[in-house]
Amino acid sequence: TERDINDLLNMILENFWVKVHAKHGQLIADLEAEESYALVDETHFTNVLYNLMDNAVKYTPSNLVLTVKTWNEKGNLMISIQDNGVGIKKEYQKHIFDKFFRVPTGNVHNVKGFGLGLAYVKQIVDAHHGFIKVESEPNIGTKFIITLPTLKQN
Ligand code: ATP
Ligand code: MG
Repeated sequence: TERDINDLLNMILENFWVKVHAKHGQLIADLEAEESYALVDETHFTNVLYNLMDNAVKYTPSNLVLTVKTWNEKGNLMISIQDNGVGIKKEYQKHIFDKFFRVPTGNVHNVKGFGLGLAYVKQIVDAHHGFIKVESEPNIGTKFIITLPTLKQN
């Protein structure tokens, strides 16, 4: 269905705030996209955004700053979800969307998971004719950027 993604994000963030607060974290939302309508399966796309935010919380041990942004680029809707957590080494970045892949190092493995979240995320983004990429720096943080075709509202 047609959905205003800024509205959807605001709704999700309202619920997610509790999780960030529990970690004594900070939440920054910069939803600046002016064309923010997209054709999405609301349930699945909500899950996608939750998964990325859930990872941000899971893989940031302390002083979490979760930054969520939207903007427009070349007629697309861009969504970024950024944390200041453990980050992902370059050599692992190309594997994180694979089923059951988890970064095989100490720090991260105090945190439980199946390595399925991002495989699901990628599958759903692909199904929406979108694109997802990761930018990450060990001990600095991670940013996921989703590109989604917009739907012009008349
Ligand atoms: P789950 O199935 O519960 O989501 P998971 O979180 O381990 O388990 P994914 O969400 O698919 O699985 O993520 C795969 C791996 O990528 C993680 O195990 C972690 O090593 C790494 N990763 C994902 N998101 C981040 C992040 N924001 N910061 C650092 N590492 C991350
Ligand atoms: Mg996960």
